Amino acid sequence: MSVPLLDVNAQNHPLEAELKAAFDSVLRTGRFILGEEVEAFERECAAFIGAKHAISISSGTDALLVAFMALGIGPGDEVICPSFTFFATAGCITRTGATPIFCDVCPVCFNLDIDALRAKITKRTKAIVPVHLFGQSTEMDSIQALAKEHGLIVIEDAAQAIGATYHGRSVGTIGEVGCFSFFPSKNLGGFGDGGLVTTEDDALAEKITRLRNHGMHPRYYHSLIGGNFRMDALQCALLRVKLRHLSTYAAGRDRNANHYLSTLSQVPGIVQATPDDCCCFTRQGEKLAAAGAQIVLPVAYEHNGHVWNQFTLRVTSNRRDALKIHLAGHGVASEIYYPVPLHRQECFADLPVHALDHCPVSDALASEVLSIPVYPELAASQLDEVVSAISSFVA
Ligand SMILES: *Cc1c(COP(=O)(O)O)cnc(C)c1O
Repeated sequence: MSVPLLDVNAQNHPLEAELKAAFDSVLRTGRFILGEEVEAFERECAAFIGAKHAISISSGTDALLVAFMALGIGPGDEVICPSFTFFATAGCITRTGATPIFCDVCPVCFNLDIDALRAKITKRTKAIVPVHLFGQSTEMDSIQALAKEHGLIVIEDAAQAIGATYHGRSVGTIGEVGCFSFFPSKNLGGFGDGGLVTTEDDALAEKITRLRNHGMHPRYYHSLIGGNFRMDALQCALLRVKLRHLSTYAAGRDRNANHYLSTLSQVPGIVQATPDDCCCFTRQGEKLAAAGAQIVLPVAYEHNGHVWNQFTLRVTSNRRDALKIHLAGHGVASEIYYPVPLHRQECFADLPVHALDHCPVSDALASEVLSIPVYPELAASQLDEVVSAISSFVA
């Protein structure tokens, strides 16, 4: 049996008739840039997320970039982000002229470690970019409190977390701005690139909308220097179809993740981390060593609505690559998100020491993590295959 990491066709092909109708409708109107489909998609995204404003953007990366531009982040500013995330988070900080400052993460929830974050704040710090990695919210009350204390802006990188909640609030609506991605592997996976910015702030929404289109308003009058950060009308029309199914997809991911948690936690050698261990590497290490765990399962906190963009195991004792090979032998695909933390990337080697130091958990995770298939269309037999392949590895 073959279990891919993601099967976009299994999700898209059942929608073929609806997608073709959406395509045909745009084809007939001949309106390909901005316009009604784009506005309708933005209205529907705002409603789904529960945000006041939702502005479609050419990609998740551009969503981050345009948010930073709108907030005036630039040369001389330090912006703190996790070291353990996708490159785009920090790439966009650098592209504004600001300096990314890499912060360590929690080995349990994979998100910003609050104590480590506090230690990275300086007089130059302008903003914090919490990343809701793998679909679970960062501890936002702590982030917001620190931001308030030091007068910092919070930009949420919610690229992997559309629909995720923190104490009942949607991610992307807690900080000044939320940034989302519709890259095909994200929970609302598009047919190419796409992204979204959300904000509760009217003036900021207006500025981002203007920056998205060359800072232009009215036509051929440029009050700001923006860019072409528009999302295609065709992409919006197609994603409107999938947005109607997003809650069903989310339920599928949740069902699969809970199946893994309930079955794999019964296997000797596999343990689930507990929230008590959050943001404390040492305590976690001692506990796991005592338990003799070979594999640590991810945890979804009770106050979080986790949307499981990834289901990520930690494999101890340098056996992660062996598990990946073992799974491949059983036809089960897996992936390492992410093998090199950002403070170790060649392109950031010249940053000041303060930007790069004190990220031991990120280093450890890079050699321990392995994400397994959790996409909504997984068949029961495929889930069973994944569970039995992992069980036979620890036996
Ligand atoms: C995917 C992703 C992005 C970038 O989104 P794109 O749409 O691929 O440009 C940014 N941050 C994180 C955490 C991501 O996972």
